[in-house]
Amino acid sequence: MIIARTIEELQEAKKSLTGSIGFVPTMGALHQGHLSLIRRARDENTHLIVSVFVNPTQFLEGEDLEAYPRKDDADIKICTLAGVDILFMPSIDVMYEKDELCIGAPAVRGYVLEGEKRPGHFDGMLQVVMKLLNLSGATHAYFGKKDAQQLALIMQMVKNYFMDVNIVPCDIVRDEKGLALSSRNVYLKDDEVERALALSQSLKKATHMILAKEFNVERIKKEMLSILSQTDKVEYVAIVNRDFQAIEEIEIGNTIILVAAWVGKPRLIDNLWI
Ligand code: AMP
Repeated sequence: MIIARTIEELQEAKKSLTGSIGFVPTMGALHQGHLSLIRRARDENTHLIVSVFVNPTQFLEGEDLEAYPRKDDADIKICTLAGVDILFMPSIDVMYEKDELCIGAPAVRGYVLEGEKRPGHFDGMLQVVMKLLNLSGATHAYFGKKDAQQLALIMQMVKNYFMDVNIVPCDIVRDEKGLALSSRNVYLKDDEVERALALSQSLKKATHMILAKEFNVERIKKEMLSILSQTDKVEYVAIVNRDFQAIEEIEIGNTIILVAAWVGKPRLIDNLWI
């Protein structure tokens, strides 16, 4: 595996590549969720590039940029074992200059839910994903459904900017109790782990209600909120169509249920695609 830390090193490493390039961008502290994307990209492509970069422009003032878990040595080992060809680990200076041209999240889809709670987050996310897709020369780029709105906005960016890359959505990976894996789960103290399960349990409850033919969004949300009262603060429970517009009745095959809540230090998100 080649570790590239500069643009020149990355371009040099890419010279020998022929055939499809799978790409998995991450912020590191790799876990089984990331690994599922990496394995899939490995299986489906001739070459595999992974990036580890904690992108400052997607963190808001007061968020956990400084404290965000960094595990470079472990990440290098994991990528080596997973058969990654090139691991791109740039510094902030390599990725950004002052007074940059920026792209922005769309005015409606980009400013509901996560975009409303974290204004500016998606601008920074799209900016870095655009850079990384261009740099990697990926033919296929893999993103988790865990970040549902992020995935939708990246697909929209690729469409709106006529970018030549296939975006591959990947299923959410959970632990044995149902907690969606996240690098931020390391912040959870023992007693908080149990309460964090409320997010996935609320989604499970929604699944059971829908299987029992309850399609009324308000009634489903009410039951979910009662389970989510175990968390410290619910930021939102939303039931939307795949364009992130509010709906009143579940539309099978076109609905996403999303939750965001605080448990101790971390703000957790989870979702379910119906
Ligand atoms: P991050 O390092 O948190 O920026 O995540 C990098 C990529 O991994 C994103 O596409 C995430 O959606 C994806 N990812 C993170 N956690 C999970 C998970 N539990 N299951 C599936 N994909 C995930």
